[in-house]
Amino acid sequence: MSLSAKRRKKLQAKLDKMYSYRTYQDDDVEVHNGGRCGYGLYAMRQFLPGELVLEVSGQLLRPNDCTSSQYVMELDDKWCLEPAIPGAFLNHSCNPNTELVQLTKRSLGIVAICNIDPGSEIRFDYRWPASEWTPRCQCGAPNCRGWIVDEGEVQKMKKIAKRLARKKTGH
Ligand SMILES: [Zn+2]
Repeated sequence: MSLSAKRRKKLQAKLDKMYSYRTYQDDDVEVHNGGRCGYGLYAMRQFLPGELVLEVSGQLLRPNDCTSSQYVMELDDKWCLEPAIPGAFLNHSCNPNTELVQLTKRSLGIVAICNIDPGSEIRFDYRWPASEWTPRCQCGAPNCRGWIVDEGEVQKMKKIAKRLARKKTGH
């Protein structure tokens, strides 16, 4: 049964509201669906090396709650940050164009480390630790480390992946 025009309009409005967090735009950055990696954060203008791209703020969490989502960022030993929009849409890259710095006691800064052209996706290096749950990386960079892990964790990650593969095949 196809949707009546009235019901379609009503449901579409509901859907738009549900996904409204996926739309963000200001003079500097924009959230949109870039294809392969889903939603991401894109430059609306040029950024020069050393330039502040955005301030990442959000909900402050105590270290005990810092594992509530995989996107929680560490501020110091007392606080973590669950990034709000648009910072929540920053994707990882093994060849990033920005880096994360502590800006204030309550926020982090995304700073350009190379020239960023308008329309480019803004990414930083997540530097996650190696674990069984560390996801494969699909950043597509020539120097891609294969998983979303810190450079110093790659060897450990390879060992974990080998162990997991053995477990899967039962050897
Ligand atoms: Zn990668």
